Amino acid sequence: MNKIIVTGGLGYIGSHTVVKLYENGYTPVIIDNLSNSHLGVLDRIEEIIGVKPEFHQIDLCDSNALEDCFKLHNDAVGIIHFAAYKAVGESVDKPFMYYNNNIGSLLSLLEEMDKSNVDHLIFSSSCSVYGDADELPVTENTKVVKAKSPYGTTKIISEEIIEDISTHTDLRAISLRYFNPIGAHPSALIGEWPNGVPQNLVPFMTQAALGKRGELKVYGDDYNTPDGTPIRDYIYVEDLANAHVKALDYLLKRSDSSYEIFNVGTGKGNSVLELLNLFEESTGVNVPYQIVGRRSGDVVATYADVTKAKLTLNWEPQYTLKQALNSAYIWELNLSKSNL
Ligand code: NAD
Repeated sequence: MNKIIVTGGLGYIGSHTVVKLYENGYTPVIIDNLSNSHLGVLDRIEEIIGVKPEFHQIDLCDSNALEDCFKLHNDAVGIIHFAAYKAVGESVDKPFMYYNNNIGSLLSLLEEMDKSNVDHLIFSSSCSVYGDADELPVTENTKVVKAKSPYGTTKIISEEIIEDISTHTDLRAISLRYFNPIGAHPSALIGEWPNGVPQNLVPFMTQAALGKRGELKVYGDDYNTPDGTPIRDYIYVEDLANAHVKALDYLLKRSDSSYEIFNVGTGKGNSVLELLNLFEESTGVNVPYQIVGRRSGDVVATYADVTKAKLTLNWEPQYTLKQALNSAYIWELNLSKSNL
């Protein structure tokens, strides 16, 4: 039956991946505690794929509830673990909350997987583990550096725990290090739907474009880059969701090494101002913005070498940055028209 448990499956990247899993013959079962998502996403997934995936509203840190859920789904062939808190700034203010949730949920999940003999795991990691890398583009062998926030540290620690457990148990795992996910499903039914003030650039940009949130703040134009603004590798969430399906296909067939890491980005870097211009070109809408001071913790430039994912997973991005930005705008437009 190819049942896959998707933790955080009602969140931004999780919901897009649930759709892709279903479209590729898997049966996704979602676990989410709705701490940063909306139950309405489940209906929207149903609208896209025609069936409502099974959903369990569970906090992963609640090991009793998780155990009960695994009793129902110990025939799952794998887990994709998206569930975590992800706001860098918030993690600086509330480090215990981040360590408890991000590390606590991983530990209870790994323990339950071990008890139930569910051996395959894909973990959501982040390019933040590379920090301000000495070499660009960054490969999977680029040095992991001390993180600048508790959030970043939870990703480094989680990767280490997974690697360690995989050497001592039957766990076979992949960490996908995402660069900067953006955009929304082409149906505009699911997308990035942050609670409160967006932390990421693109939702802020779309909300500023629609006059929902005043001017977009560009944090610093005095970095050592061609236009002075930081450079990132923006990956369309549809391409990112596909990378999970490819990684899962690969992981389920593999019988040798127990832990692998893949970068998931486009391989190209764009500055904040370049992204803003591309957004305006693709949507025809102006974004009011102001340059403000640098934000602590921001790296100057990062973009991925994705050769390993191309060669090993047979995955590569299919969409352009303009398509991704346009989808983000249409999504925001739809969201502001709906009564949710
Ligand atoms: P998101 O907040 O939209 O989704 C995470 C989901 O997990 C939410 O639906 C939330 O309700 C759920 N959740 C959180 N803690 C939980 C718990 N204890 N039990 C059950 N459910 C819980 O985030 P996203 O952008 O979809 O990110 C998914 C993963 O990818 C996260 O691990 C994040 O750190 C990682 N990541 C995200 C980005 C990004 O820019 N979006 C970049 C790199 C890595």
